[in-house]
Amino acid sequence: MKEKIIIANWKMNYDFNDTISFIRNLLKINLDKKINHKKKIIIAPSFPFLHISNKIVKGSNINIAAQNFHHMDKGAYTGEVSAHMLESIGINKIILGHSERRIIFSETEEILLSKIKIALKHKFYIIFCVGETYDERSNNKHFIVIKKQLSKTIFKFTTNEIKFLCIAYEPVWAIGTGITATPKEVQSMHYFIRFLFLEKYGKHVSDKLQILYGGSINDINAKNFFSQEDVDGGLIGNSSLEFSKFLNILLS
Ligand code: PEP
Repeated sequence: MKEKIIIANWKMNYDFNDTISFIRNLLKINLDKKINHKKKIIIAPSFPFLHISNKIVKGSNINIAAQNFHHMDKGAYTGEVSAHMLESIGINKIILGHSERRIIFSETEEILLSKIKIALKHKFYIIFCVGETYDERSNNKHFIVIKKQLSKTIFKFTTNEIKFLCIAYEPVWAIGTGITATPKEVQSMHYFIRFLFLEKYGKHVSDKLQILYGGSINDINAKNFFSQEDVDGGLIGNSSLEFSKFLNILLS
């Protein structure tokens, strides 16, 4: 059985105290013993708290990821944070392609391509998000959209380059809305994504690829998704901000 990955995306929510006390509370619980299936836990706090969070989790089964970095390596980009800066504080995981970044911050596929190159240069593990809008799904375009999102970005790279990667399928209409895709819809999209990887990179890569679902997962519905054959975990927004809910998701 493949290890499941559970990622908490805290977005621009938690301050210093919230961040530290949540992680400390998680560390107090002996998760290794409690989690029935093997699960990898990744938490994505905001930039100012990455360094301290990374220090606190050292030696545990909790990993820390950044929510973003700039698509250039260095230079006159006031207010931006580079991959190298994150690397220098021990961060080596990054969420890329989140729909909030694509939509609110106008991250195009060209920008994403640059970000992937930077991530590869600095040997980051990439959590790459793809997902269709409500209109695209209503018009039955969701498979075409996901294929295009992958073709213009990840599929520009070789098998060797995309070794440290997982895909998060996050339908835009399900993020933060309380509406989820059905487990069947999720399974069929994950199967399709795995098939695209099979076509592009072969069986070894596609079998190993971890594909997570994200979009209004909570402590009640989590197990319905995690029990699907091609769902290898979840990317959690709102429900990762409530300790007991997130813990129940980990235990699902
Ligand atoms: C997300 O933003 O990646 C996400 C899945 O959010 P939520 O769980 O709140 O839908």
